[in-house]
Amino acid sequence: MVNGIKLDSSLSNYAVFGNPVKHSKSPQIHSLFAKQKGIELNYQAIEVHVEQFSECVRSFAHQKGKGLNITVPFKENAFSLCDTLTERAKVCGSVNTIWFDEKNHIYGDTTDGKGLINDLTVNNGLDLNNKSILVLGAGGSVRAILEPLCEQKPNQIVIANRTVSRAEELVKKFSNQGNIIACSYDDLSNLSYSRHPFNIIINGTSLSLNGKLPMIPKSTIDNGTCCYDLMYSDTETIFMKWALAQGAAKVMDGLGMLVEQAAESFMIWHGVMPDTKSVIQSLRSVKREA
Ligand code: NDP
Repeated sequence: MVNGIKLDSSLSNYAVFGNPVKHSKSPQIHSLFAKQKGIELNYQAIEVHVEQFSECVRSFAHQKGKGLNITVPFKENAFSLCDTLTERAKVCGSVNTIWFDEKNHIYGDTTDGKGLINDLTVNNGLDLNNKSILVLGAGGSVRAILEPLCEQKPNQIVIANRTVSRAEELVKKFSNQGNIIACSYDDLSNLSYSRHPFNIIINGTSLSLNGKLPMIPKSTIDNGTCCYDLMYSDTETIFMKWALAQGAAKVMDGLGMLVEQAAESFMIWHGVMPDTKSVIQSLRSVKREA
C-alpha cells in the first residue's frame, strides 16, 4: 500500500490527488453530481507525497479505482504518466482527469479550459467573439485555457506575465490559433498594439492566493470590462475588489470554472452530464452561511 491509499472494493472509487488537497471542493461537487444522477460512488481527497505521485496513481488503478482528478502540483506529472492522451491534453501539456481500462492502461484529459469557457459563456452569458481579452499570467492554468479561448474567436488575446519569456513561449505555441501577443505588465501602458480598454480581463496568476494584485495600468479597464479571477474564495478576491473599484461591468471568481471542469470529468467517467447551476448555487450558499 502506497501513501496510505486503501480503497473499499465494494464501492466505485474516485479521488482527487493533490498536495495540499484538504481545501478541495471536488469531493463535495462530485457527491452532489452523483446524488442528482442516482449514482453511488465514493470520492475522496487524497494528499499525495510529491515523490510518490506515479506509484499512487498505479496503486489506485491496481485497487480498481475508477477515476482521478489531478490538481496542483501534479497536472504535468499526470500528463507524463498517461499512456493515452486526448488531443486537448496533448496541446495543453497538462492532465486533470484520469481513468483506466481493465489492463490498468492510464488515460488522461484536461477539462479546465472547457470549464472556464462554459462558465464565461453559459453561466455568465458572455460572448467572446471579436472581443479583446487580456490574460494575466502564463502558468499551467493559462496554458490550459488558451486553445478553448481561441476557439471562441476573440479579436485579440494579450498575455501579460511577470516572466515575459513564458508568455512568449505560449504565443509561439498557440499563434496558429489566433491573434495572440505577449508582453510585460509595464508594456500594457503602451496602448498602440492592442485594443484598450479590454473587454475581458482574466487573472490567471496565483497572486490572489497571497492577497496581491498584478501591477497592471488602469487604462486596461473601464466600465465595459468584465473581469474573471481563476481563483475562488469565500469572499471577493483582491483582484475582484480592484476591478470593482475601477468600475468594471462584471466580476467573477473561479468557482463556476471549478464546478464546470468537474462536470466535464463526471461526463467522461459516467457518460452523463450533471446540472452545474444547482451545484454552484449550493456551494455559494454554503459560502454565504460560513
Ligand atoms: P502556476 O504556478 O502554473 O502559475 C502562476 C502564475 O502566477 C505565473 O504566471 C506566475 O508568473 C504568476 N505569479 C506568481 N507569483 C507572482 C508574483 N509575485 N508577481 C507576478 N506574477 C506572479 O499556477 P496555475 O496556473 O496552476 O494557477 C493560477 C491560479 O489559477 C491559481 O490561483 C489557481 O488557484 C487558479 N486555478 C483555478 C482553477 C479553477 O478551476 N477555478 C483551475 C486551475 C487553477 P511567472 O511566470 O513570472 O512566475
